[in-house]
Amino acid sequence: MTLPFDNSYARLPDRFFAALPPTPVKAPELIRVNDTLAKELGLDPEWLRSGDGISMLAGNHVPDGANPIAQAYAGHQFGGWIPQLGDGRAILLGEVIDQKGQRRDIQLKGSGRTPFSRRGDGRAWLGPVLREYIVSEAMHALGIPTTRALAAVTTGERVQREKGFPGAIVTRVASSHIRVGTFQFFAARNDTEALKLLTSHAIKRHYPEAETALDLLNEVIAAQANLVARWMGVGFIHGVMNTDNMTVSGETIDYGPCAFMDVYHPEKVFSSIDQYGRYAYSRQPDVAVWNLAQLATALLPLIDDNQDQAIEKATEAVNRFPALFREAWLQVFRSKIGLRDAQEGDAELIHLLMDRMAATKADFTNTFRALSDDSARDHFSDPEAFDQWAPAWHARRDRDGSTPEEQARLMQRANPAIIPRNHQIEAAIQAALQEDFAPFHALTEALDAPFAPRRDNDPLTLPPTAEQEVIHTFCG
Ligand code: AMP
Ligand code: MG
Ligand code: MG
Repeated sequence: MTLPFDNSYARLPDRFFAALPPTPVKAPELIRVNDTLAKELGLDPEWLRSGDGISMLAGNHVPDGANPIAQAYAGHQFGGWIPQLGDGRAILLGEVIDQKGQRRDIQLKGSGRTPFSRRGDGRAWLGPVLREYIVSEAMHALGIPTTRALAAVTTGERVQREKGFPGAIVTRVASSHIRVGTFQFFAARNDTEALKLLTSHAIKRHYPEAETALDLLNEVIAAQANLVARWMGVGFIHGVMNTDNMTVSGETIDYGPCAFMDVYHPEKVFSSIDQYGRYAYSRQPDVAVWNLAQLATALLPLIDDNQDQAIEKATEAVNRFPALFREAWLQVFRSKIGLRDAQEGDAELIHLLMDRMAATKADFTNTFRALSDDSARDHFSDPEAFDQWAPAWHARRDRDGSTPEEQARLMQRANPAIIPRNHQIEAAIQAALQEDFAPFHALTEALDAPFAPRRDNDPLTLPPTAEQEVIHTFCG
């Protein structure tokens, strides 16, 4: 099979990347192919399952038309500036135009060392690969912009972390891998020529209506405001919102120590490396603004020849984020409580519910889901906390232009019955380490239809017991 590659990023100047193939692995074995996504990309899933297909997914065979590169980028990690990061464990094989005419990157993650690896081994172990597969596909099924997982393979090699683990590679598909940090990379080098090329490349790919760097900035700000609001709506904590982990496309990227909350708490953090809660649940919109200010700074030379003017325009753009976020957030959470219309006091009503959820340790997902069948009070350790809130909610629903049936349907479409809970992901990883991939497949398949009703006490819908609870997630 020949893949219909058309590699626009590889046609950019040499300093945008390092050209090199993935490093072959010893004994690749297929874990899973995403049939639906393969077909969307115009790839034959049966071929991907064949010897040649697996060989490509493992980086052992570079197909005709591919142009393997590691992309250069920089970034702020936990607020600290790193002038050079880049793909240290990933290789972009190339781009294909999908069935809808969209350009999509096909990247192998865990495919060996590159000039950007620094001290890393260029590899990934099975745990993070399965986590990325499960969570990115779950996000997609939830309707949230995200990179996708086309396939996962094991490598037949060991990867050394706290101890030795099986190596694995995930094939990631993205509308592009251009990050805030890609712009920062060139801005920090005063490479205005490259910034211009990158800007027109990004515009052409993601925002064809945009004409200027300022237009691009505005588009990215709007996309990220929407994205972070969507994360908030499902209790998602990215965990490492460094500027190198923020796309200009508005897709969620780099599922490392990310997690969905069980019990709701605004200050919730999972990542073992986020000691100060910089990337806690409720901080995510503020961090997004901070990151977007870095993008704005990188674009200054292109925004106006007069730098004072440029700063003024860029600042104005970044300052629009809070209002855009608030509007997107309200839209997400209004639906979650069954409201169709926008009315005065909606934000306060939602916050009152969430304050009560936090105070009584209510499960985020199950509490919202239960609003549609009037059983939400059962999810509060102190049901009176819900009873005190409910009259205002009922009154507000009466004032809405929608019918109770429409409200119930709205809530069922806005509140998933299942999310990838940490302890379930952990259980799937532990089973896979014992060579049992059934829990991984079952979890992935269940998450394909997150809004469908689940039977009572379906284990995949249950919060973790004290023993099952995962306190920390790791980068891998
Ligand atoms: P991440 O934590 O995935 O956002 O990665 C941050 C930076 O570290 C990127 O430049 C990665 O390519 C690099 N990196 C992470 N893990 C490894 C690894 N095992 N080997 C080489 N580079 C890595
Ligand atoms: Mg180069
Ligand atoms: Mg990253």
